[in-house]
Amino acid sequence: MNMDYPDCAFCRIATCRVPAEIVYEDSESIAFLDIHPLFPGHVLLCPREHYETLSDLPLGLTGPLMAITQLLARAVEAALDAEGTFIAINNRVSQTVPHLHIHVVPRRRRDGLKGFFWPRTPYRDESAREAVRDAIEREIQKLLV
Ligand code: 5GP
Ligand code: ZN
Repeated sequence: MNMDYPDCAFCRIATCRVPAEIVYEDSESIAFLDIHPLFPGHVLLCPREHYETLSDLPLGLTGPLMAITQLLARAVEAALDAEGTFIAINNRVSQTVPHLHIHVVPRRRRDGLKGFFWPRTPYRDESAREAVRDAIEREIQKLLV
């Protein structure tokens, strides 16, 4: 069992010390409405236990959490009559609550969501692209050993 972090906003919600508009919960996870939604229906899904980033999440919890993400995406689309969803995780950078959470945001075409406009950075040339590909593949091989 992981430690509960008393100063963590989402540990407080997960342990019912602070109220939230809960839409789903089970023994390992909890999902609730974001207090400052990008759009109505913006949901946050957290593991109950305090893991800071996706990299910290035990492998055994990744599958169940993704299954609940799928469930929430379907439910949010249906409930808000949305055309799709945006699913996102901020890992450290831009992460304001250091307790892993998956954003499930209802989307419509031309809904004005511009905050997720990412300027693209092309590779210098083909060899730079290949070097990055090689480096990532090497790290994957190391992690799979
Ligand atoms: P992040 O920026 O870390 O990816 O997202 C954190 C999200 O948590 C923000 O969208 C913010 O509105 C939401 N949030 C922060 N504190 C609370 C809270 O106490 N209750 C709820 N329901 N949402 C919160
Ligand atoms: Zn926490």
